Amino acid sequence: MTFEALNLHPAILKAITETGYTTPTPIQAQAIPEVMAGHDLMASAQTGTGKTAAFILPALNRLATPSESRSKGPRVLVLTPTRELAQQVCDAATKYGKHMRFKIISILGGMPYPVQNRLLSGHVDILVATPGRLIDHLERGRIDFSRLEMLILDEADRMLDMGFVDDVERIAEATPATRQTLLFSATLDGVVGNLASRLLKEPKRISI
Ligand code: AMP
Repeated sequence: MTFEALNLHPAILKAITETGYTTPTPIQAQAIPEVMAGHDLMASAQTGTGKTAAFILPALNRLATPSESRSKGPRVLVLTPTRELAQQVCDAATKYGKHMRFKIISILGGMPYPVQNRLLSGHVDILVATPGRLIDHLERGRIDFSRLEMLILDEADRMLDMGFVDDVERIAEATPATRQTLLFSATLDGVVGNLASRLLKEPKRISI
């Protein structure tokens, strides 16, 4: 399997080549075709497997096609349990998307509200957020999810361990039912499986 075989946009392939990657990791080789085919996905993959690129590359690929919506709200939402993980996702998107034009913002706890309010009122393509702070903004009516195409839950098991299950569900409910949903987690059973059954539609299942 090569990255060329994945049918990613040339601008993304160029960035991957410049990063020095030659071969997709197993999670990337399995997940990217399913996501690009439009399926919901639940994948068990630990940190270090290349899972971030497994969801960010197809998300960027989607952004390569302009939205038909006239709204300014995010097209892709990534929820992460921690600020550190959110930063890694932003860094990855910036690296793999360096030959594309898109706007990525992060909305994290511990950051000032006025700055976040300003960011949320502007044009956004990718929103990376921790659930608690995002709920605050959602309840204040500051987020327009009308053009959201893709919801990604990164390290879902950790988000649930941290008590974010209600927040995650409320956020998901505020997004269009037509969205594509991807869930990444160390484990897929128990409470994570229950959450997946409520938020995902006929998901493809991948275990690495
Ligand atoms: P992650 O599991 O997303 O935290 O990624 C782990 C590390 O693997 C990161 O430092 C990535 O830059 C790197 N990585 C991701 N995909 C590949 C790949 N296809 N080839 C080589 N390294 C990669």
